[in-house]
Amino acid sequence: MLNLVLFGPPGAGKGTQSQKLIEKYQLVHLSTGDILRSEIANGTELGLEAKKLMDQGILVPDEVVIGMISNKLDSNKEANGFIFDGFPRTVAQAEALDALMISKNTAISGMVALDVDSEELQNRLLLRGKDSGRPDDANPDIIRRRIEEYNNKTAPVANFYKAQGKYYSIDGIGSIDEIFTEISKIVDGL
Ligand code: ADP
Repeated sequence: MLNLVLFGPPGAGKGTQSQKLIEKYQLVHLSTGDILRSEIANGTELGLEAKKLMDQGILVPDEVVIGMISNKLDSNKEANGFIFDGFPRTVAQAEALDALMISKNTAISGMVALDVDSEELQNRLLLRGKDSGRPDDANPDIIRRRIEEYNNKTAPVANFYKAQGKYYSIDGIGSIDEIFTEISKIVDGL
């Protein structure tokens, strides 16, 4: 199985690259942000609780997202592999993901990190907010909060995969196709 973690701050381009990766490698895309937004759209209890945090740019609790991922792994038993986008976002989530992989007799193949500086991120997110309709993209204070959450809680996840020799990083500034070529080189070498 090919199980990839796509890593990077909000606005790094994970969603865009995921779409291209699932096509090329026939993977199932698991984006916790997308799953949470679909819970919100369906008006579920979980969605209502998550929305309060997401609208402030704060991470939702680990148990919630770990449970969501576990369900999705169970409902995609025939998959060739998975691409994890926006997950794991804390070291506790990374540990839980390793345990889930072991329970399915598989493992994370590698993490690919997209490197983008924070000024570029702010600009991209504000631009996306103009047409994405995402409340968390519309307000500079909330964007700053998300980048802060990333620096405090998510950035350490890179070390978790570095320690396992599974960390690869690439420059996230360039054309979509250029970046995709770089990611593909890494994936083909895994
Ligand atoms: P982005 O990468 O642009 O910040 P996402 O769509 O991945 O956007 O996430 C949007 C929001 O959803 C996050 O700010 C956070 O509140 C919540 N969220 C998504 N994934 C996770 C996760 N793995 N753990 C905790 N919260 C999450």
